[in-house]
Amino acid sequence: MHPSGVAHEKAKTLLIDAQRSLEEGRFDDARRSIEDAFALHPEDEKVVELYQQILLADGVRLTRVARDLRRDEIRALEKRERGSHRDSDDVREAFLKALESFDKVLMANPRNSKALMLKSGTLDRMDRPGNREEVLALFDQALAIHPDNEELLYARGRILGPCSHCGGPGFCADCQGSGEVSGLFVRRRCPSCKGSGVCVHCGLF
Ligand SMILES: [Zn+2]
Ligand SMILES: [Zn+2]
Repeated sequence: MHPSGVAHEKAKTLLIDAQRSLEEGRFDDARRSIEDAFALHPEDEKVVELYQQILLADGVRLTRVARDLRRDEIRALEKRERGSHRDSDDVREAFLKALESFDKVLMANPRNSKALMLKSGTLDRMDRPGNREEVLALFDQALAIHPDNEELLYARGRILGPCSHCGGPGFCADCQGSGEVSGLFVRRRCPSCKGSGVCVHCGLF
């Protein structure tokens, strides 16, 4: 068989492995298999499709990991320090890792509007004022591909409009981003953000 034919056969086997891993809930294995399959044969339609799906889902998951890490850091601070919280390098790196997944999808398919939207959501969550221009540019890119997409228009409005609830930074106003509130005797999960520490009125995650 021609060497490229061998690579394609191997990619197909890896694709099946990835599908099986997904079905069995082994997400890390699925990601590994589909990344290998894509590296071997990026032209196979089914491989490219599942590659994008898995990496998008992982990007969302990794964004949540970064967000939770930040919340835990805020939680560890004294109440009066919470307003002036700054992200640690760990939080920054966690967000960058999520962005890497979205960038891989966009490298495979620059017209994937879901990836453009999710990437801008993560950039916004990471640093709203600092990434504002890039966030806007990504939405413009996505809207150029799908001008009438309501999900995009809605998400854009959600991210860009000034938030009357948190005043803009994207942290839950009721717990200052710590995800917990003081009850009578114990601290309990913040009911407004369900413990995420994130303002639920703005942002995509
Ligand atoms: Zn808000
Ligand atoms: Zn809260």
